[in-house]
Amino acid sequence: MPPWLSLRFLCSFFLVVVAAAQTGLPPGPPAAGALTRYEFVAPHMGTLFRIVLFAPDESVAQTAAAAAFARVAELNRIMSDYDPNSEVMRLGQPPAGTAIAASAELFDLLQRSQQLAAASDGAFDVTLGPVVRLWREARRTRRLPTDADRAAAMRASGYANLRLNPADRTITLLAPGMQLDLGGIAKGYAADEALAVLARLGLAHAMVAASGDLALGDAPPGTPGWKIELAPFGQPARDPLIVVAANVGVSTSGDTEQFAEIGGVRYSHIVDPASALGLTTRVAVTVIARHATLSDSLATACSVLASGPVEKIAGCLGDSARALVLRQDECGMVQRATYGSSPPGLRTTL
Ligand code: AMP
Ligand code: MG
Repeated sequence: MPPWLSLRFLCSFFLVVVAAAQTGLPPGPPAAGALTRYEFVAPHMGTLFRIVLFAPDESVAQTAAAAAFARVAELNRIMSDYDPNSEVMRLGQPPAGTAIAASAELFDLLQRSQQLAAASDGAFDVTLGPVVRLWREARRTRRLPTDADRAAAMRASGYANLRLNPADRTITLLAPGMQLDLGGIAKGYAADEALAVLARLGLAHAMVAASGDLALGDAPPGTPGWKIELAPFGQPARDPLIVVAANVGVSTSGDTEQFAEIGGVRYSHIVDPASALGLTTRVAVTVIARHATLSDSLATACSVLASGPVEKIAGCLGDSARALVLRQDECGMVQRATYGSSPPGLRTTL
């Protein structure tokens, strides 16, 4: 058994389990200068955030983890679409066309979102808020939205209707009824930011997992990287795919956990802007990129793109992101394909 920290990763399609016993560190009190492994879990952003870090003692570890979780809570107050008072929700309150001054954080994240919206031809689009809301309601009631409701939600969406003005850092929603939804990028961003807090406090050997979005820092001491086991479509794989990586983001998107069956059709929680409905192709996408903000948003984008012309996937990955795309057909057969280039922190082939 290699002395690597092991993550079994099966959420959305992969569940993250950190195997504590595999650090390879000796039992008993640590020698002077030695680092001990600590793990912390807390609920944030509607999911569980998990921090694994290596620190000189428990008090340092606890203080750092508390600071990292506080940063996630701070970001949630800006980005939550469940909190009517969050900054992102307040954007939708004034009449369409009103320019609103934004925090640097929100502005930065929206700039990144818009870049990916353009690169993916709108497959990833944070302005799909009205469509996501309509779709959440459909999943809850198990009834498809009417054509009129879908058309209205699409009229209130579209990344071309989101104007960002860097000169005065203002945001303008151009269409009436617009609502932003950062669900496809905010957890990766929060994981990156929590990891950055730990690094600033001197704890660089750390990782933050926000459900299916992992921000990996320096490798566990004495190891080549964080070891992540991929088990597609929620099945503990007999022959698991192992990823070993450090200083990258690893994200998975798909419909294994969040889906609805309506009229015998299985729909994902990820919406297809072409239909204003949930995706119906069964896909599992894992993306490894320079950081988790990128891997999170790319995994969502690739899930949409994997249902259409797949050539677009490579185009939107850029030159340092790698995507593993698994598609399951009606007979349960899984096709596997990889796209893009490996980022420097990926130690294994994927
Ligand atoms: P993820 O689990 O990271 O793939 O994100 C899924 C979440 O992103 C959904 O629950 C929605 O909040 C949001 N979302 C759904 N479809 C899209 C899309 N096409 N582009 C951007 N965000 C989306
Ligand atoms: Mg995502």
